[in-house]
Amino acid sequence: MQVSASSAGFTPASVAPAISYQELMRKVQLARPKEDLDLLRRAYEFSARYHSMQVRASGEPYLSHPLAVAHTLADMKLDVVCISTGLLHDVVEDTEADASVIKSHFGPEVAHLVEGLTKLSKLDFQSAEARQAENFRKMMLAMVDDVRVILVKLADRLHNMRTLEHVSPEKQERIARETMDIYAPLAHRLGMSKIRGELEDLAFRYLEPAAYQEIAKALEKKRKVNEAFLAEVAGVLDATMSKHDIPARLEARVKRVFSIHQKLRRQRITIDQVYDLLAVRIITETLKDCYAALGVIHNLWRPVPGRIKDFIAMPRPNLYQSLHTSVIHDTGVPFEVQIRTAEMHKTAELGIAAHWRYKEDGPGATKPATKDALDEDQRIAWLRQIVEWQLDVQDPGEFLSTLKVDLYPEEVYTFTPAGKVIILPRDATPVDFAYEIHTGVGHACVGAKVNGRIVPLRYHLKNGDIVEILTQQGHGPSRDWLTIVKTSKARNKIRQWINTRARQKALELGKRLLEKEARRFDVNLKKIEEAVYQTATQDYGFHKIDDLMAAVGFGKYSARQVLTKLSPQPLKEPEEPGKIVATLKQALGISSDGAIVVAGSNDLMTYRAKCCNPIRGEPIVGYITRGKGIGVHAKTCPNVENLMYEAERRIDVEWARTTEDTYPVKLIVYTDERPGMLKEVTQAISDGTNIRTIEAMVDETDHSATIELILDIADMKHLDRVLGGLKRISGVRDIERVLKL
Ligand code: MN
Repeated sequence: MQVSASSAGFTPASVAPAISYQELMRKVQLARPKEDLDLLRRAYEFSARYHSMQVRASGEPYLSHPLAVAHTLADMKLDVVCISTGLLHDVVEDTEADASVIKSHFGPEVAHLVEGLTKLSKLDFQSAEARQAENFRKMMLAMVDDVRVILVKLADRLHNMRTLEHVSPEKQERIARETMDIYAPLAHRLGMSKIRGELEDLAFRYLEPAAYQEIAKALEKKRKVNEAFLAEVAGVLDATMSKHDIPARLEARVKRVFSIHQKLRRQRITIDQVYDLLAVRIITETLKDCYAALGVIHNLWRPVPGRIKDFIAMPRPNLYQSLHTSVIHDTGVPFEVQIRTAEMHKTAELGIAAHWRYKEDGPGATKPATKDALDEDQRIAWLRQIVEWQLDVQDPGEFLSTLKVDLYPEEVYTFTPAGKVIILPRDATPVDFAYEIHTGVGHACVGAKVNGRIVPLRYHLKNGDIVEILTQQGHGPSRDWLTIVKTSKARNKIRQWINTRARQKALELGKRLLEKEARRFDVNLKKIEEAVYQTATQDYGFHKIDDLMAAVGFGKYSARQVLTKLSPQPLKEPEEPGKIVATLKQALGISSDGAIVVAGSNDLMTYRAKCCNPIRGEPIVGYITRGKGIGVHAKTCPNVENLMYEAERRIDVEWARTTEDTYPVKLIVYTDERPGMLKEVTQAISDGTNIRTIEAMVDETDHSATIELILDIADMKHLDRVLGGLKRISGVRDIERVLKL
């Protein structure tokens, strides 16, 4: 049996054993005899060469740092690839060696791990708010595809913390804070209690030196007493376990400084009242041994009620398994006993590292077929998931959604320029990012810079991207965005915006249609009482009049229908509008053209746009105006391209089948100046076509004439016929149709 009474705290660099390359080799050889020690040797020599000119803050050669990191990794019994990475972890970051050199010297696996570390070293935690620490931890896990990168990172941080006394107080504070917020919890998540404990105590020492010293002093004062006590307890336990044939290795410990500090603060007690200040650990063989030992202990000392914890039946999320019980010694001193199997102990101490199984025989080799070996792989995968799930989630609904996301770890971790982490689903775009920041930013988004470079809005964000959204006041989202966004938040906000706009337009249009219809039937809308409006609104199943007006605008109900409900007397079909009425309508811009119908709706007000005056048979397109109904343009109209920029205002229109209407069309005929020309022109036209105006001008200098005409034209066929007739006249040089009358 062996009893080791390790006291709390840390090992300062000054008393750390000198670490050497030879020792490292020996350690690895012992733990992993089959591995490629040549790789390790080359990694060491490479690191020694590239770091040769560098010195640490302590004055030691820089090489002492990667060597110490490698030792920690070797103590964790990690594979040679991982330990070599430890030796090389700062090479790309701090020397002129680049990634390709690492790859050519050490192969893709080591290069990949070193690259992961270089990537992590670029993360700036400083700018993070404290509440974002969890995001940073998650991001670190998301950014690496090989957990060994994290293990090396933790070993790296551990050595930096052990040697923190050599740097400036500002740097001490920053590094210690980072360690407390990011790295110690990360180690905890990964189940690495040993590293976590040391990181916490080291960080605590720099963050709250007074509190640290107070507890450390109290412990020091009682150190002799405590050690004697633990030795006595261990002796009794050892004898009793032997008597009951329970195999047991004993360890004893005094609670760590930071752990005590937390307990004192949380429970507002003094150090003497900490039940588990002193603890003995029994490491046995089987599950049965664990429970047998528990029974034996409870016979020896009185258990404290409510202090028995079965983490074997109910493992902690980081896979920690153990039985805990607090008992009272005959002298009245309470202490804790932890009981676990050797396997559980390994997991508790090393966490994920305990489960790290490297590919024994390289690629192509058959995997060990034992059930345990396979389970181990799955365990690592599962552990990683657990690590990612293990959020402090209060709301069960929120937990489910987190769970879902993490089950498919399809997230990207991005930053605002100020360093705030924004978590988005994989393939998310800058538009998603913009809406995640603020709806207003989303709506006003016109472009984005990623890592300082302009990218298209459909760019897929990557882990670690720093995203800056370019905005423009008054800009609105485009319907196209719906196809590029990945978050439901962005999608909903864009839809909402589009719907609001569409409704606004429909509302304007609906009001206009009703007014037009009211004028047609000579109903004075203003004289209709509010209550009548209300009743009509409710009859249609709406709450507000505006909703009804919008429904009219959307074409759900016709203006005539609604007017019938509103009108105090039955609607009477009006007589043909007189000339004055027609003129008035024209002046108001509401001379709705019955010749044009809007696809899917037969009661929307349309008018032929004055810029192009399209005629029957001409390809046309509708444009929803603000308050004037639907403007109908010739597809060839020069304004169309500009107007249709707002795609959602475009609407399909077509010519109604029958009508006897004609349209004024203005033509300019360029001819030679000769006698009888004007007569020939009018003759060619007047065959069934009404000429409204005709005006001719002669230019003596080049013997040309310009004849300007306005004709009543029924449709495109008619126009083509007229143009054909004109072109046949000898001396006609060119004919121009002037779109604007
Ligand atoms: Mn380092």
